[in-house]
Amino acid sequence: MSTIIDAQPIAVATKRSNDVRVLMNYINGSWVDSATSEYAPVMNPSIGQHIANVPLSVRSDVDAAVRAARAAFPAWSSTPIKERVQIFFRYKRLMEEHLQELAALVREENGKTMSEAFAEVEKAIEVTEFACSMPQLTTGEILEVSKGVECRIDRYPVGVVASITPFNFPNMVPNWTIPNALVLGNTMILKPSELVPLSSIRIAELLKEAGLPDGVFNIVHGSQEAVEALCDHPGIDALTFVGSTRVAKLVYARATSHFKRALCLGGAKNHLIVLPDAHEEMAASNIAASMSGCAGQRCMAASAMVAVGNVDHIIRRLCEEAKKIVPGKNLGAVISKKAKERIERYITEAEQQGARVLVDGRNWIVEGKEGGFYVGPTLIDGVRPDMRIAQEEVFGPVLAIMRVNTVDEALKIENSNPYGNAASVFTQSGGAARYVIERASAGMIGVNIGVPVPREPFSFGGWNESKFGACDITGKSSIEFFTKPKKTTIKWNPESKVNWMS
Ligand code: NAD
Repeated sequence: MSTIIDAQPIAVATKRSNDVRVLMNYINGSWVDSATSEYAPVMNPSIGQHIANVPLSVRSDVDAAVRAARAAFPAWSSTPIKERVQIFFRYKRLMEEHLQELAALVREENGKTMSEAFAEVEKAIEVTEFACSMPQLTTGEILEVSKGVECRIDRYPVGVVASITPFNFPNMVPNWTIPNALVLGNTMILKPSELVPLSSIRIAELLKEAGLPDGVFNIVHGSQEAVEALCDHPGIDALTFVGSTRVAKLVYARATSHFKRALCLGGAKNHLIVLPDAHEEMAASNIAASMSGCAGQRCMAASAMVAVGNVDHIIRRLCEEAKKIVPGKNLGAVISKKAKERIERYITEAEQQGARVLVDGRNWIVEGKEGGFYVGPTLIDGVRPDMRIAQEEVFGPVLAIMRVNTVDEALKIENSNPYGNAASVFTQSGGAARYVIERASAGMIGVNIGVPVPREPFSFGGWNESKFGACDITGKSSIEFFTKPKKTTIKWNPESKVNWMS
């Protein structure tokens, strides 16, 4: 049993049944039982162990959370932003103090390596740091538009926001929305992934310790039913979703059909365009890290490489780099047995269709962790653009290599993919890089960088079928999403005569 299981704060949020933690919802500052009778198992993917049961909440649970969030809204939204932000300075400090524990929790429920778990929490801290700068960024606008008449814009919170998150970043993705939305005066209901619900519990506890008033942040665990209830509930004003494109489309359509503001981030198929003049070592190490980091379960992971001309020297080096990445050592587990089987099916199907597996990560067993779900780094050459592995999101440590003769052919492949989260170019030519930057159809572009995640204050968000709705989810763009502008035109002095605008 890990030390985290015995950590006192988690015990507050759970009951025990047959020595497995049974999780509870967090409503109005208290841990409460769900009204459901259905629970899903939470697994530790590194060892394949059942570690908790999460309630699959029902509509009445969502309703209770909405009532709490609505009741908390008037006082929270009218608290000056300079006071609200003080809580997030404390929250940031608490995350720093509990970094080790938060990372261990991520590792336990998600299966990523400890250094990846640290990086995830560090990014959550960075987003919180950005949220702490909101008073500086939201000062409003004012202008005298005609003699004695001024126009001003003030930003108001949207209201109650729902945030629905995926399994791959149990701490970071919830924190993409929590600090920004709450500092801006909204109240929130988080619906974390039922596969990784533990980190959110600790987030709630730290927010409370930081001084967040009850009801401002609530958690409803669960899956489809809870999400549908959030989409339908008239007491929710805006909704963010991060997950697969299939579900992002369903959620976006459902939430907007109820006239909610919605921002739904979907899946990805990120292309790396590699030119022969790329720096061999830098390209190989960046590409290997991009395709294998977090076991390939990143929406920013490199999934397809388009080799332009002769880049055999880079592919050779890439194979050497990939072989240094070993499951159970510097490569974590994938989330489930089902995911492992799906990833391995993609590889086998590509092989059967004529592609060559250069490095094969199938059938990995890690000694001492035989129950864990591991796939080793896999490089597949000779992939054709019409193969399933070239078109679909695999979400595992697998890179499909396609060969073309020109940059335009590479861009045609990249452009024709329905996703558009990220794309990267590897070259030492500024002109070639610029050519790709201008033509790649993706929201985040890397030059000699395999995972071009924008650091704050730059915002995160893809294009095409990787994102539905306006605005990005973090950075300055999130201010637009989480607030509504009020435009006021003011005239006090009678000498400001009526004119054509009056
Ligand atoms: P998922 O779509 O299966 O689940 C995401 C959330 O939706 C979860 O909270 C889940 O409970 C809920 N859900 C699942 N099925 C549902 C349904 N039918 N109706 C309503 N809600 C439902 O995604 P996942 O497997 O947890 O996460 C992996 C996916 O997320 C990948 O596609 C990855 O690319 C994507 N992702 C995207 C980004 C981004 O920024 N674009 C970031 C992280 C992950």
